[in-house]
Amino acid sequence: MTAQLIDGRKIAARLCEDVAAELHAAVTDGVPVALATISAGADSASQAYLRRIDRTAAVLGVSRQHKTLAGSATAADVVAAVRELNKDSAVSGILVLRPLPRGVDEATVFAALDPRKDVEAVHPENAGMLALGAPRYIPSTAAAVFHVLDSWLDATGQDPARFYRRARIVVVGRSNNVGKPAVSLAFAKQAAVTSVDEWASVDNQLGAYTRRADVLIVAAGVPELIRAEHVRAGAVVIDVGINVIESTPRIVGDVALDEIVDRARAVTPVPGGVGPVTDIWLMRNTVLAARNLRLAAERESRAS
Ligand code: NAD
Repeated sequence: MTAQLIDGRKIAARLCEDVAAELHAAVTDGVPVALATISAGADSASQAYLRRIDRTAAVLGVSRQHKTLAGSATAADVVAAVRELNKDSAVSGILVLRPLPRGVDEATVFAALDPRKDVEAVHPENAGMLALGAPRYIPSTAAAVFHVLDSWLDATGQDPARFYRRARIVVVGRSNNVGKPAVSLAFAKQAAVTSVDEWASVDNQLGAYTRRADVLIVAAGVPELIRAEHVRAGAVVIDVGINVIESTPRIVGDVALDEIVDRARAVTPVPGGVGPVTDIWLMRNTVLAARNLRLAAERESRAS
């Protein structure tokens, strides 16, 4: 078997058309759509992510604002920046880039976000709604994973409900921003879900879990962690990892694509898999947030 390469760029291009239409409709209705980002310090991965956000926003015509804080910023500094953007009526979505400076508690910063502007669903209210299966916003990377899977199912003529109900989905990595939201979305699909983290590797049990997967979602941030021995023949493998190999330099995923290509049924490449879809999904959430803010303002004005 030679795995089908799932073309994330093509899927992103189609999604981009949908989001462009949603944006056009919002702008026509006079709803301001703008994404604001905050970063602290000069982490190279978050700088690269910022460039991607700027590029995608420019392609779609989403307004942008960015605030850079010093690497010495305190939690109070970051919270103050968040509150300023909460108040700014021109801003519909806010994204706080990680990592934050050492000593700055992420949970404190995320709790300061206006939940309606929290386009990555990191505020406790939004994270809770996602966990309960009633998300206000679906975090962009996890959303992209399932959008890619759904697109592949559609392209191969499979019934999604039937596929997911029978699927054993294994998610490697359980960060708050990728692994856990992916698990919540897999629950919502009625799949049989297993979540593993680095302890599976430490205990030399990673393969014992991953070889059960019909769908293997990998978000560990470890270059080429998943090798042929970790993959069941015929599995669908979604590689979320983006790892910069400085010596070459090049970007590799968490999956050794060359090794699994003869075992898997379908696989996403890196680059060109989940990443491009993630970027567009963030813009979709920003448009949705703009709509939510407008609805809330209308409700408030009716109530007063
Ligand atoms: P993180 O460091 O916050 O979390 C990593 C998770 O993987 C943790 O739960 C950890 O326990 C687990 N893990 C680490 N080593 C492991 C191992 N050897 N075996 C099993 N589990 C292991 O990272 P993150 O923010 O979740 O990101 C994960 C990867 O996804 C990174 O490469 C990141 O760059 C990438 N990413 C990609 C996109 C995209 O759009 N494609 C978006 C966000 C993050």
